[in-house]
Amino acid sequence: EAPPEVTLFDKIVKGEIPCNKVYEDEVCLAFRDIAPVAKTHVLVIPKVREGLTQLQHASAEHKFILGHMLGVAVPAVVKSEGLNSYRLVVNDGADACQTVFHLHMHIIGGGKPLSWPPGVPR
Ligand code: 5GP
Repeated sequence: EAPPEVTLFDKIVKGEIPCNKVYEDEVCLAFRDIAPVAKTHVLVIPKVREGLTQLQHASAEHKFILGHMLGVAVPAVVKSEGLNSYRLVVNDGADACQTVFHLHMHIIGGGKPLSWPPGVPR
């Protein structure tokens, strides 16, 4: 599939589309999903997408961004949201329900226990 040049996440980073921000640093922005599936449903994105339209396009040059997302931004959100348990989701590709082609991690949890498993509908 041909990813769009600019996604709505670029517009959110620029402030052209408003978001409910929960965390920001020099590398990442985290904001509440517009259609939350749990009490906490936060999206963590790199501010600069570069080649990271989706995770399968990651390479060694993206190690810093990926490490920062997982090692700094996600834990900061988990802490500020007071989550003891949560799910971290990356939908990688259209058949995995990726709709925005700017890498993002979903932090989902809080309120009630989550259901499992995801997968192919029966
Ligand atoms: P994906 O399906 O690509 O893994 O996740 C994209 C997410 O972006 C979806 O969960 C969707 O609800 C969310 N989303 C779509 N448009 C907007 C928007 O304008 N603002 C916010 N905050 N989230 C959005």
